[in-house]
Amino acid sequence: MAVGTTVAGVTAGTTGKDVQSYTSSEAPLGRPEVEMVIIQPTPFCNINCSYCYLPDRSNKHVLAQATVTKLFTELFASGWSNPEITVLWHAGEPLAVPIAFYREAFAAIERLRPKHGPGAIVVKHSFQTNGMLINAEWCEFFREWEVGIGVSIDGPRELHDAHRKTRSGGGTFDKTIAGIRCLREANWPFHTLSVLSRASLDMPEEMLAFFISEGIDHVCFNVEESEGDYVSDLFQGAELRQRYERFLRTFWHLARADGRVKFVREIDHALPRVFRPEGVRARNIQVEPLGMINVDSHGNVSSFSPELLGYKNADYGDFLLGNIHQQSLAEIYDNCLQSAFLRDIQAGTAACKAGCEYFSVCGGGAPVNKFFENGKFDSTTTSFCTLTQMVPTDLILEAFDKLEQNWTGQGPPIIAPPASELSSRTP
Ligand code: SF4
Repeated sequence: MAVGTTVAGVTAGTTGKDVQSYTSSEAPLGRPEVEMVIIQPTPFCNINCSYCYLPDRSNKHVLAQATVTKLFTELFASGWSNPEITVLWHAGEPLAVPIAFYREAFAAIERLRPKHGPGAIVVKHSFQTNGMLINAEWCEFFREWEVGIGVSIDGPRELHDAHRKTRSGGGTFDKTIAGIRCLREANWPFHTLSVLSRASLDMPEEMLAFFISEGIDHVCFNVEESEGDYVSDLFQGAELRQRYERFLRTFWHLARADGRVKFVREIDHALPRVFRPEGVRARNIQVEPLGMINVDSHGNVSSFSPELLGYKNADYGDFLLGNIHQQSLAEIYDNCLQSAFLRDIQAGTAACKAGCEYFSVCGGGAPVNKFFENGKFDSTTTSFCTLTQMVPTDLILEAFDKLEQNWTGQGPPIIAPPASELSSRTP
């Protein structure tokens, strides 16, 4: 079956780097369609993971409420917001900022939000957190504002503590798992995000058993990658694709057979992109000007991949498009249209469109990974796109082919192994 076959469509949520979605229009509108706003409440992080790319994670600066007000006043007045937007509080540890800050910020956004008529906008807040500071009070706040929660945990203690460390080098597993258990006690839904290392790539069964043992039923994976000053040796190996494919296939099939892990982002977000109605485009907001707006704690604004915020480069400067206190959103958009990096990102997307059979599913990948892996935006394949686009698409089509063979009686029906294979390993 060919990549990009269109059969049926489903919608799915968005968090972090997973910034692709759907719209019924065939082509971009010629103006921004803002779908996601990523805000850095503080650059500070309370821990010090070995693979972290954030350059400024000891800085305790906190976003001003005036920045929140200015940003959303501009956004809601622009007419560029989608009817539903996600506001992701990320980059630094968001829970290092007190709850009182978010109560004030969320209330201000709610006051400003257009609530009625054809211009009404729904705002969904979400946090990506290391989970260590979650307590009953935070859970109450999450419920009050219906906040989406992603907790970063890399698997069982030995896998997690190998990289996710305190500043003094200690492990963080105990506090993270306490945060997860607190969410479960409060009965507040969340998903986990696990960075796969060389070790965990060979342990899909153990990873699944861990999630099941902790009652974690929505999971996402990233593979340890090269970003910013961090260079992953894992990302350089030619065998990475096979190893990741093996991991994901085994995990997915075992999870489906067992039934307790209900959502595997890498598959479940790719499914509606692979099988979608005719005429529905698969958006990639990382390559659209202001498809996503990224704002740091000083009000500086960038677009495209959020990881570019805070970096400098001889060709592109600091990747900033302006500051929300000094420029209007319209001026920031103009700066974006004239930027050298938009030109090069678009050239890279055009090259993807011309040469990659996964383009209709992917939409041109993540500019930041092209930049850090290939040294330029004007490029195509990366290890990142191989893992996040090509492997899931191939696995979905492989499963579909087996299903078809089953329908037509031409082949073995098994997509998932028997549940008994897993039940011996899980409680
Ligand atoms: S080369 Fe990579 S980034 Fe480009 S369309 Fe293909 S999968 Fe996407």
